[in-house]
Amino acid sequence: MKFASTRDINRIVTFKEAVFTGLAPDGGLYNPVSTPDLSAFFKSCSRETPFLDITIEMTARLFEEELDREAAERICRRAFTFSPALVDGKNGIRILELFHGPSCAFKDFGASFLASSMEEFLNKDVRHAVILTATSGDTGSAVARAFHGRKNIDVVILYPSGRVSPLQEKQLTTLGGNVSALEVKGNFDDCQRMVKEAFVDPDLRSRLALTSANSINLGRLIPQSFYYVYAYSRLKPSADREPGRFYFCVPSGNFGNLTAGILARTWGLPAEGFIAATNINDVVPEYLSNGKYHPRPSKQTYSNAMDVGDPSNFERIKHIFGNSWEKMTGAVTEEVVTDDETEETIGRMYKEQGMLVDPHTAVGCLAAERFLEKHPSENLTIITLSTAHPGKFLEIVQQATGKKPDLPERLSEVLDLPKESILIENSLEALSEFLLETFA
Ligand SMILES: *Cc1c(COP(=O)(O)O)cnc(C)c1O
Repeated sequence: MKFASTRDINRIVTFKEAVFTGLAPDGGLYNPVSTPDLSAFFKSCSRETPFLDITIEMTARLFEEELDREAAERICRRAFTFSPALVDGKNGIRILELFHGPSCAFKDFGASFLASSMEEFLNKDVRHAVILTATSGDTGSAVARAFHGRKNIDVVILYPSGRVSPLQEKQLTTLGGNVSALEVKGNFDDCQRMVKEAFVDPDLRSRLALTSANSINLGRLIPQSFYYVYAYSRLKPSADREPGRFYFCVPSGNFGNLTAGILARTWGLPAEGFIAATNINDVVPEYLSNGKYHPRPSKQTYSNAMDVGDPSNFERIKHIFGNSWEKMTGAVTEEVVTDDETEETIGRMYKEQGMLVDPHTAVGCLAAERFLEKHPSENLTIITLSTAHPGKFLEIVQQATGKKPDLPERLSEVLDLPKESILIENSLEALSEFLLETFA
């Protein structure tokens, strides 16, 4: 499979090039140029097929021009030491738990595969890369954990001093080894600006192999399609029988997760369609309902990883549907959930089902319920993606349920480790000095 920019279909690159460049030079996003048919493989998966086997098979088939089977297997074995799980909700709603990875959020799947692929590609060429990433909290910890201990790769995380939660800060600053945490005297926008300036700085570019690991990278997007296939395999009543009609409901912010599901469907996954669930940052739902796209500044909500006013993957989704609103709305419907409704849903799910969900998952669960109400007696199954562990959003979950969720040990154990960060000014000079002194 080869990839092309959404803005210039003649700009064709390999997976490896896409992984190391992130964004296309023309500012577009990379999308597959061909549509492989994996439907026979999807059908052959059963409830017993291990998640790891699904990932290896899909990696080997999707990237067969670039990776032999052994390489695909190495990448996946290193990346996926954890698996999704499909659990029962009520009334035809199933929940796909994606928070069993190192940072307890679904971003672990993408970050881990990206890190593992880069390690594979670097091994071949014996090169060294420096991953530079700015974080407002959560993405940084998934990236830091994913890249920690990888050969020939160093990671530099910039975070705004005093503006991330104590747990998030510990997650970023206690790994050591090849992960450096820069505590920037400024806000998240300063961190992002410094990273952007570093990528275009001629001196830095000539002396270091700077690479990004942000969420638009294909190396993070493609592996997110694997768990859609896993969910489908778990719906099957038996190995040779197909499940009934099913939809996926995806709590969305930057819409990478939803894009990955849409890609899996183009490769033959027999999902009826998708529900794009958002909080009040509803530019995409608005587009789906009236065809008008108006990006605007984001508003703060309980489901803060979805507070996005101009989702970067929207361009990708439009491109996949041939820029046709009719085609997109034929496959994707929308639901918008407010903070009050989110809190109410967290409380109700605990009361009725004894289930603790984080606010992002709650947005998805309410959206799925509404969708089912609009389609009564159709005997549908909705798979709602659960994107984070409830323990990561302790205050709101406790407020809504009266119960304090447990923090998984892999998160709580960092609280006792000493913080190691380097405090720097919010300027490109300060960042350059650190990078060149440390890596040049
Ligand atoms: C990033 C994130 C989302 C949104 O995912 P997108 O791919 O950006 O749409 C949802 N929930 C959680 C917990 C996240 O961290």
